[in-house]
Amino acid sequence: MTAFRKTLVWFRRDLRCFDHAALHHALACSEQVYCAFIFDRAILDELPRADRRVEFIQSSVCELEDALHAMGGALIVQHAHAEEAIPELARRLGVDAVFANRDYEPAARRRDQHVAHILEQEGRALHLYKDQVIFECDEILSQSAKPFSVFTPYKKAWLARLHRETDILKPHQVEQYSTRLAASAKYVRHVPHLEELGFGPTNLASIGLPTGMRGGQALFDEFAMHMQDYDRHRDFPALRGTSLLSVHLRFGTVSIRGLVRHAMQAMREGASRGAEMWLSELIWRDFYFMILHYHPRVETQAFKPEYDTIVWEQGPDANSLFQAWCKGETGYPLVDAAMAQINRTGYMHNRLRMMTASFLVKDLGIDWRRGERYFAEKLNDYDLSANNGGWQWAASSGCDAQPYFRIFNPVTQSEKFDAEGRFIRHYLPQLAGLSNRHIHAPWRASPDDLSAAGVVLGEHYPLPIVQHEEARQRTLQRYAVVRKSTSAR
Ligand code: FAD
Repeated sequence: MTAFRKTLVWFRRDLRCFDHAALHHALACSEQVYCAFIFDRAILDELPRADRRVEFIQSSVCELEDALHAMGGALIVQHAHAEEAIPELARRLGVDAVFANRDYEPAARRRDQHVAHILEQEGRALHLYKDQVIFECDEILSQSAKPFSVFTPYKKAWLARLHRETDILKPHQVEQYSTRLAASAKYVRHVPHLEELGFGPTNLASIGLPTGMRGGQALFDEFAMHMQDYDRHRDFPALRGTSLLSVHLRFGTVSIRGLVRHAMQAMREGASRGAEMWLSELIWRDFYFMILHYHPRVETQAFKPEYDTIVWEQGPDANSLFQAWCKGETGYPLVDAAMAQINRTGYMHNRLRMMTASFLVKDLGIDWRRGERYFAEKLNDYDLSANNGGWQWAASSGCDAQPYFRIFNPVTQSEKFDAEGRFIRHYLPQLAGLSNRHIHAPWRASPDDLSAAGVVLGEHYPLPIVQHEEARQRTLQRYAVVRKSTSAR
């Protein structure tokens, strides 16, 4: 017995048709299920006219359409304002309800409330499901039923609940009901090309980022073979030590349940240290979703309010320093190579995100919000919760952040995590001739060493825009207001 005659599944950041909560539930309780994806003008109109994320989505939607078609269904694709397009489509198709997976970002929640309201007025409901996370924000609470603000006890509670409720990881079956997918040719048109959406091509293909469900699976298969080394390799940007799945998690071309299942299985089979640490990163992802849910003010404010009393550098000099950071022209090679990575590929290694964020805030004294915005524009995997969490961690203003007096030394970081300068040489070939000793701090090389390497500082590569030790002292003074207000409490 099915509860509904016709329903509509609205795909958003869940571009797959396997282990999909909303699709599964719609199929399980309807005679006929339509599927739709809207290229939302409310989001796209704000973006620069060439954006790797739009190309990633466009390509992934093409694959989703093919896959639904192969299962006997179809994907209705529109380029419109989703807030209006979804109720309108529901009306035209005459569906009883709309199904979607829950989105946690404040703007998405506002959009969903609006759509739910219009649907309700016409006698339809919007059914939202947990799909993007393992646990909803209110499923992991402290013993006093409060949200956690420190990661380690959150993780302990998260793991304990998962061990109690292993069913949570069971895939949401789709295939078994596929005969219920509506193959309506009436409203279906081809997936718009990038140009039709008003966008130009990017270098997505040449950077080798595979898109869609197949791309996510290929990256995962590769990572699974060396998951056991994750704990030892993850901090070295010249190695392929991490999964590179963040963009796939962002757009739901992989299933978070599938990834966690695999990590748990690998832990049982003995790949324990690497798999355990990787699982921990996936838990950080849930943690930051939860923080944003309970503290939406972090979108613009410090999690710890006293950190908003810090006075950041402003004015033309600060603007020039910020520009130098954005362009990767700080004179600190690993910082600059990392900024070249994000600018050219839309990805940056986690260790380097921490280091470049720390450099902007604690070496240049610039408000973390400016760096956060820059990353938001550039990152393929940009996610408000993780990005904000990462920036507030680096600025020490976050919920479980590094202490304000811990200030990364960009040269020591470089010597430790790119000892042979392989990552630097890849992104800054003008420094390739320098020895492993000098590549981390070229200004310390003798004139003879520089000329042997063919490097003229100030011409081929900038001199440092700040002296780290002086900047460190200035930062300790800048953060003194935090110390005072913390001890005054
Ligand atoms: P892996 O090491 O293979 O990790 C697996 C997955 O775990 C990642 O794909 C990601 O979904 C999740 N994850 C890993 N680390 C974190 C973390 N610290 N917080 C939350 N989730 C995590 N991650 C984003 O997905 N989007 C962002 O916009 C983002 N911005 C960041 C900004 C700063 C300043 C910092 C310090 C970190 C940021 N991160 C962000 C977290 C992390 O850097 C990336 O998730 C990771 O580098 C992606 O590479 P990967 O997929 O190979 O990760």
